Amino acid sequence: MIIDFHTHTFLSDGGNSPIELIRLAYANGYSVIGITDHVSYSNIDYIIGAATRDCELAERFWEIKAVPGVELTNIPAKSINELAKYAKENGARLVVVHGESIAENVEAGTNYNAVNSDYVDILAHPGLITPQEAKEAARRGIYLEVTCRGGHCLTNGHVVKIGREAGAKFLIDSDSHIHKNLYTGDMQARVAKGAGLEENEIREIFDVNAKALLKKLGY
Ligand SMILES: [Zn+2]
Ligand SMILES: [Zn+2]
Repeated sequence: MIIDFHTHTFLSDGGNSPIELIRLAYANGYSVIGITDHVSYSNIDYIIGAATRDCELAERFWEIKAVPGVELTNIPAKSINELAKYAKENGARLVVVHGESIAENVEAGTNYNAVNSDYVDILAHPGLITPQEAKEAARRGIYLEVTCRGGHCLTNGHVVKIGREAGAKFLIDSDSHIHKNLYTGDMQARVAKGAGLEENEIREIFDVNAKALLKKLGY
């Protein structure tokens, strides 16, 4: 059973409708999928509302948990806490922040402000995250993402090394932008291995971390 908290649909820059992505994830053996399209203050209400409708529809008919969320992307770093709070208070079950991937130029301070917000659940692709930021993520219970997305995955090894030393918890997400990016078979575990995670750490991610986050989100 695959749990993947970070995906995109055509509500932002992905290629499928939310219900189509959920349906194809379900066919791939997913038990949980997060729908986390890119948002800023401009589209946050629309995205949360639209994703929630398809997530609810899916859950009524299929045995999959579809979690409506957002990925705060390229907003001013200092506005992250404010918008994360707004997202949670306006129906987003899950708040992901688009971190400082070396493959993309987001504002410096994005990682720092994300790990200092009580409304953020996952710091996605945090690039060259610092030990201090990783310690704050660990202290606050914010998950650091290991990703299979091209470009963003270039720093998986660094994220694992720094996160491990800081005692931070990891998740392994696909960051799918099209259904062909969704995990199949044991790809998720292979990506984790490739990032340098040990067998016991990978088991902890699947059996403990993913389930603990679901519980925190009220599932
Ligand atoms: Zn992202
Ligand atoms: Zn993303």
